[in-house]
Amino acid sequence: MKVGFIGLGIMGSSMAYNIFKGGYDLIVYNRTESKTKIFKEAGVPVAKTPREVAEKSDVVIIMVTDAPDVESVIFGENGIIGGAHEGLIVIDMSTNSPEYAERFASELAKLKVEFLDAPVTGGDVGAKEGKLTIMVGGKKEVFERIRPIFETMGKLIIYAGPVGSGQKMKLVNQIAVALSDVAMIEAIELAKFFNIDIEQVYKVLSTGGARSFTIESYMPRLMKGDMEPGFKLSHLRKDIGYALEEAKKEKIPLFATSLTYQMLLSAENLGYGEKGIQALIKLYETLSKEKRA
Ligand code: NAP
Repeated sequence: MKVGFIGLGIMGSSMAYNIFKGGYDLIVYNRTESKTKIFKEAGVPVAKTPREVAEKSDVVIIMVTDAPDVESVIFGENGIIGGAHEGLIVIDMSTNSPEYAERFASELAKLKVEFLDAPVTGGDVGAKEGKLTIMVGGKKEVFERIRPIFETMGKLIIYAGPVGSGQKMKLVNQIAVALSDVAMIEAIELAKFFNIDIEQVYKVLSTGGARSFTIESYMPRLMKGDMEPGFKLSHLRKDIGYALEEAKKEKIPLFATSLTYQMLLSAENLGYGEKGIQALIKLYETLSKEKRA
């Protein structure tokens, strides 16, 4: 199978590289050409447009930011549909709304193109190490055909159900991620006030009952004052926004998730959207007692 990969950001570059290492015939595209350097150096062909990727591939994987970005990569000028051919399989691995996934699938079906939504969790480290969890929505038989490609990028590959189900599962996951981000930061804020050694706090939080991926992955970065993104704060706000939209449709109250959305949005408005999710601490620091004094 010839695989095309569109979107070589923090996640996409590692995921595409793992597909390449898995022995697949790969072609890549990124809007900003400089990010294709490692692929060029490895001898991987670089396409000029998503259309060219589609023309030269059996499977096209998309890993861009938000649903409108996926839409423009598929349906925009020089998009995938320009190079679409019968039997092509398009897989969106970015995180966005289940509603969009359903729309993409039905539009592409008119061209006899299959679609899977397959968002991931596991962060930048999981992407590098090929240990992502991948949640897939779409036709089961198409999922089974693609499974070996998913296995080059992930450890746990879940078939979640019909199209849109992967995104639904991911939104569920993101609520837990966002709330554990808040929990970690509030714990650190109180520890700072108590003047407790932060290394000791880390040992406790990362081994005891509060242990979580968020603490293990992001607290060491916070301790070094490293706000650079493994996972961008604006992306978590996007995900939580979609989770709330879905909940709203069925009048499901999500108290803490709603508050967390406002907090992420405020941190983004303060200029931390392109920083990592650990930069939510900047909201607390901005509003801290010391600042008011
Ligand atoms: P990122 O580093 O910001 O990369 C985004 C990529 O999308 C870049 O290659 C960017 O191209 C491309 N892009 C964005 N809009 C585009 C458009 N309109 N047309 C063409 N290309 C476009 O983000 P990331 O961390 O890799 O995240 C990608 C997706 O995975 C997001 O949906 C995110 O929520 C999800 N995700 C992230 C993580 C994580 O820990 N980072 C974990 C799980 C899921 P340029 O280089 O030209 O900007």
